[in-house]
Amino acid sequence: MVIARTLHELRELRQKMNGTVGFVPTMGALHEGHLSLIKRAKMENEYVIVSTFVNPTQFLPGEDLDAYPRKEKADLEICRLAGVDGVFVPTEQVMYGEDESYLCAPRIRSYTLEGIKRPGHFDGVLTVVMKLFNLVKPTKAYFGKKDAQQVMMISQMVKDFFLDVEIVPCDTVREKSGLALSSRNAYLSAEEKERALALSKSLHHAIKLIKNGERDTDVIESEMLKILNDVDVEYVAIKDRLLNEVPSITVGDTVILVAARVGSTRLIDNMWI
Ligand code: AMP
Repeated sequence: MVIARTLHELRELRQKMNGTVGFVPTMGALHEGHLSLIKRAKMENEYVIVSTFVNPTQFLPGEDLDAYPRKEKADLEICRLAGVDGVFVPTEQVMYGEDESYLCAPRIRSYTLEGIKRPGHFDGVLTVVMKLFNLVKPTKAYFGKKDAQQVMMISQMVKDFFLDVEIVPCDTVREKSGLALSSRNAYLSAEEKERALALSKSLHHAIKLIKNGERDTDVIESEMLKILNDVDVEYVAIKDRLLNEVPSITVGDTVILVAARVGSTRLIDNMWI
């Protein structure tokens, strides 16, 4: 497995790959969720490249950029065991210069949901993903549905800029308890982890209501909020797959999303109906 730290090293690695390339961009601190993306990329491509870069431009002032878990040694070992061909581990200086071009995410759909508490977050996400795509030149790129708005914004960017890459949204990997795996779960105490289960429980409850015939989004949202009464809810939302507000559920075209703070940790989760 090649570890590329510079643009030169990455380009050299990429030039040697004659065949399809699956790409899994991450911020490191790899867990089973990331691993599921890597495994799928392995299955569907001749080569796999993973990047681990804690991208500063997608953090807002006051967010957890400095505290974000960094586990380079373990990440490299996980990638090696998974049969990854190359890992790109750039520094901030490799990825960014000064007074640079910068992408603007859609002004409406990137300023709802996550964008309300994190305005500008998706500008940073799209900028770094565009840079990574231009360097890695992947055939397919793998993203988790857990970050539903992110995968939607990236798919939109690929469409808007006519990029030649296929975006593959992958299912959320959860603990047995239902908690969606996240690098940020490392911040949770045992008691907070227990309370954090309210997120997945509220989503499961919504699914149960839908299975029983409920279609009214207001009813479903208020039922979910009852389960979320022990965490600090930022939003509960029911949208179509393009993030438009919908008055009622359409099976096959709905996403139910929740974001909440548990102690000082901000968690998100969702289910695609
Ligand atoms: P991150 O390192 O948090 O930026 O995540 C890198 C990629 O892994 C993103 O596409 C995430 O959506 C995805 N991911 C994170 N957690 C999970 C999970 N529990 N299941 C599946 N994919 C995930």
